[in-house]
Amino acid sequence: MLSNRNCHLATLLLLFFTVNFSSFAFAKDVKLYQVSSGVLKFDKGWLTAMKDVGKILEFPVAMYIIDHPRGLVVYDTGMNVAVSDGKCDSYWGSGLCSAFLPIQRRDEVIDKWLEKFGYKVSDVKYVIYSHMHLDHAGNMEMFPDAIHVLQKAELKAAWWPEKFQRAAFVLKDFDGTRNFNFLEIEGDFDLFNDGKIKIIETIGHTQGHQSLMVKLKNTGTLFLAGDAIYTSDNEAGVIPGITWNTYESMKSIDRLKMLRDSHQGEIWYSHGIDQYNQHKHDAAYD
Ligand SMILES: [Zn+2]
Repeated sequence: MLSNRNCHLATLLLLFFTVNFSSFAFAKDVKLYQVSSGVLKFDKGWLTAMKDVGKILEFPVAMYIIDHPRGLVVYDTGMNVAVSDGKCDSYWGSGLCSAFLPIQRRDEVIDKWLEKFGYKVSDVKYVIYSHMHLDHAGNMEMFPDAIHVLQKAELKAAWWPEKFQRAAFVLKDFDGTRNFNFLEIEGDFDLFNDGKIKIIETIGHTQGHQSLMVKLKNTGTLFLAGDAIYTSDNEAGVIPGITWNTYESMKSIDRLKMLRDSHQGEIWYSHGIDQYNQHKHDAAYD
């Protein structure tokens, strides 16, 4: 039988381990998964002005699942689930479908990726969008309980786009989101105020485009460019093909490169074929 004194000691030890284990749990590291919402097949010249024009390729559509101790984050939601398994025409319409030629299996939609890695759609606390084009904000309505993080300028541009930009915003993707919880930001924003997931304003591709800086313990600092830098060509100085404002696009590319150098990090592209193929997509970067 334990004496009173031993009993006290046992309680203290239990308390010590409980406190330490819970602080361990809190100090869990950030994990990141890179996946793709199928592929889009189009002329590379759309991404790289005057370079590789006429070359038809299949481009990945990068999305990210980021597990932070204070909440699960998704960066970009890919193409709408209704576009899956050859059913594009009935959702995007034949014009957009023949221009972008999406090839997306149902199991490549963001909810299925979340399930694959052991999460539920309802676990997602924040959905951050690089911008609201059809291949990035397609599944906004899958996350009615999340906080949606966008630049205020992007929301306004998507709801009422300039005429020449109208085609790439599919109103059906977000016409049911008026009462969603939006975190409308203007400029850079540190999501958890710990430097681990930081939104970087990179306008140019659209009026309110934003990229993401993610600090991982072992992998290092990643700059998820979104469409601010489509491919390695743009990083090397080739002007992006489709852009709202070329001058702002080039400034944003320079901004990301400067940050990449100062943090000794890496830039990950939204539609870079070779880089995407070199990455792993069945397990997390940590
Ligand atoms: Zn875009």
